[in-house]
Amino acid sequence: MNSSPAKLPNKSAAQKALEKLGLRRDIDLALHLPLRYEDETRIVRLADARDGDSVQIEGQVTHSEITFRPRRQLRVTLDDGSDTCVLRFLNFYPSHQKTLSVGARLRVRGELRGGSFAGGFGREMVHPGFKPAGGALPDALTPVYPSVAGLAQSYLRRAVLAGLAGADLSDTIPAPLTSKIGSQPMWSLREALQFLHHPRPDAALATLEDHSHPAWQRLKAEELLAQQLSQLQARRGRAAMRAPALGGPALHGAQGGLQQQLLALLPFRLTAAQQRVCAEIEADLKKPIPMHRLLQGDVGAGKTVVAALAAARCIDTGWQCALMAPTEILAEQHFRKLVGWLEPLGVTTAWLTGSQKARERREMLALIESGAAGLVVGTHAVIQDKVKFNRLALAVIDEQHRFGVAQRLALRSKMSENGEESGQEPHLLMMTATPIPRTLAMSYYADLDVSTLDELPPGRTPIVTRVVSEARRDEVIARIRGQLAEGRQIYWVCPLIEESESIDLVNATETHQALSAALPGVMVGLLHSRMPPAEKKAVMSLFSGGQMGVLVSTTVIEVGVDVPNASLMVIEHAERFGLSQLHQLRGRVGRGQAASACVLLYSLGDAPRLGEMAKARLKAMLETNDGFEIARRDLEIRGPGEFLGARQSGAPLLRFADLALDAELLAWARALAPLLLDQHPELAQRHVLRWLGGKAEYLRA
Ligand code: ADP
Ligand code: MG
Repeated sequence: MNSSPAKLPNKSAAQKALEKLGLRRDIDLALHLPLRYEDETRIVRLADARDGDSVQIEGQVTHSEITFRPRRQLRVTLDDGSDTCVLRFLNFYPSHQKTLSVGARLRVRGELRGGSFAGGFGREMVHPGFKPAGGALPDALTPVYPSVAGLAQSYLRRAVLAGLAGADLSDTIPAPLTSKIGSQPMWSLREALQFLHHPRPDAALATLEDHSHPAWQRLKAEELLAQQLSQLQARRGRAAMRAPALGGPALHGAQGGLQQQLLALLPFRLTAAQQRVCAEIEADLKKPIPMHRLLQGDVGAGKTVVAALAAARCIDTGWQCALMAPTEILAEQHFRKLVGWLEPLGVTTAWLTGSQKARERREMLALIESGAAGLVVGTHAVIQDKVKFNRLALAVIDEQHRFGVAQRLALRSKMSENGEESGQEPHLLMMTATPIPRTLAMSYYADLDVSTLDELPPGRTPIVTRVVSEARRDEVIARIRGQLAEGRQIYWVCPLIEESESIDLVNATETHQALSAALPGVMVGLLHSRMPPAEKKAVMSLFSGGQMGVLVSTTVIEVGVDVPNASLMVIEHAERFGLSQLHQLRGRVGRGQAASACVLLYSLGDAPRLGEMAKARLKAMLETNDGFEIARRDLEIRGPGEFLGARQSGAPLLRFADLALDAELLAWARALAPLLLDQHPELAQRHVLRWLGGKAEYLRA
């Protein structure tokens, strides 16, 4: 006989599933908290239960049969004395039939469903759990944990229980420091965890569900503290690293230094905010420790010139500066601008992108490696292996949220590749036009210094925003004619539908055709992400050169494009865009003297009205032009994930704390972190390890 090997319980599969959930150590299991609870502490009378309830009942089997319509199934009728209910099993073994035979007394739990159903009517439970009736009832609620396919709750419960027993839950926060947050006395970690995994049935379920229960407060406080500690450690670790101090002799000293010469060349004066921010950066660059500074400023605030002045300082002391931008269009625009400013002053600038010809690239690489190029501008191409800097001292990352941790690390490591400067790190200036709300800055960016451009250059006319129904498209086109007659240019943006790039394209192409037909004699261009780079470049230069009157595009123009003569922006299907994105797009106009406007065209499609979130976004756009206010509302509407973008890829987002609700806990953690690190460094270390395990490294990038 050919017998197959005995089937062992597949432990390694469950183990793998646990690892997939990140549950490796005892403490990881102990910190794996229930999603919700089931109440197995009580037996409910069927007559008292409502349809849809998850209940536990006890009764006697009065009928049991296998039926074949609509498909093979085992149907068992259970009577608990108050009412009856049918238990249905679509998959069953002979052993089921035996346990579920007439006369058996059972304890059953599952979701009660009402109404009529195939082959009968009354109430039923499909695939309920069951065991013999009687037996003790548990005295705590049964936890239901977040899980993955192939990992049964029963296995997970046992694993968590074992983790809870095995983990070191001793307090890492000395008692005097935990005595209170606000008005609530603090639970200990051990108390909090034991409670959350097995709460008594009389616990206030609502406070467990909305996480306002003191046990949850303790967990959130712990998590925020871990985050603050790890960032503080990163910040202190950085202070121990070395970077070139860029206060050295100026190569262009004769005419007052490169910075002075650049300032004299600019057609405008710096705003007070720009001056302040430049001074903050200057002070950092002169120190022998690496700068990690985030420069935030609304669209159009003038971040590029700030970067140029920092670059000038760097180049003037004989070092190289690299500037990396997320898209080719943006990189090219920076390149043109910076070449225009710095080339007349004798600075050689190299240019690197993915699409450039091999010969050109070779020339550029040589310029960079020899040190002849003081400034290197480009896309991700800047961090490729082949790029060898001669003396990199300053790395500028524009639209930093578009880049990942790995890319920032790669750029930083471009310096230590070089023998002479090994062990040193370049200064890092990260720029963003998505202002970061205060609570986010305080938590996720606590390891960075932040400079803020809170003032727009003078002479900007405020942008008037209107929300207009798609039905009035003709009026919008009439308005475009008016603007064109005044010599202005127009952006028309079509949405990016992530699931379907092709629909997206059809949309933009159709709009392009319709506008071309409606505006005879006007050059109407089309720009989308799937065009070859050379073609994009050609379209962009026709628009920025003024020959093209209307530019229809997908969101490729979202970041940083600067055409001051453009005075009107139409955003089609504005209801589909995120709030920050709408604000970024709107920032493409209002850059010159002309009165500018942004028209948000919305379409209801088949829906009777706009969704709540879409409405909230459009309302915010109507009500404010202030990037910080926009950011605050966006956080309210969407939560933190979007702001952090790539920064957090690979690193844990906060699992328990909610920055919109837990500002008080965040303030507590922020104040406590330096105390703990200074007075109890070994406790601080244990705390970070407990919460972040091996993941803390990511937070340093
Ligand atoms: P962003 O902060 O969005 O990157 P840019 O650096 O592209 O903004 O600047 C927007 C426009 O404002 C550019 O045309 C730039 O030359 C101009 N600009 C920058 N600073 C000033 C200033 N102090 N006065 C007048 N115009 C300025
Ligand atoms: Mg910019």
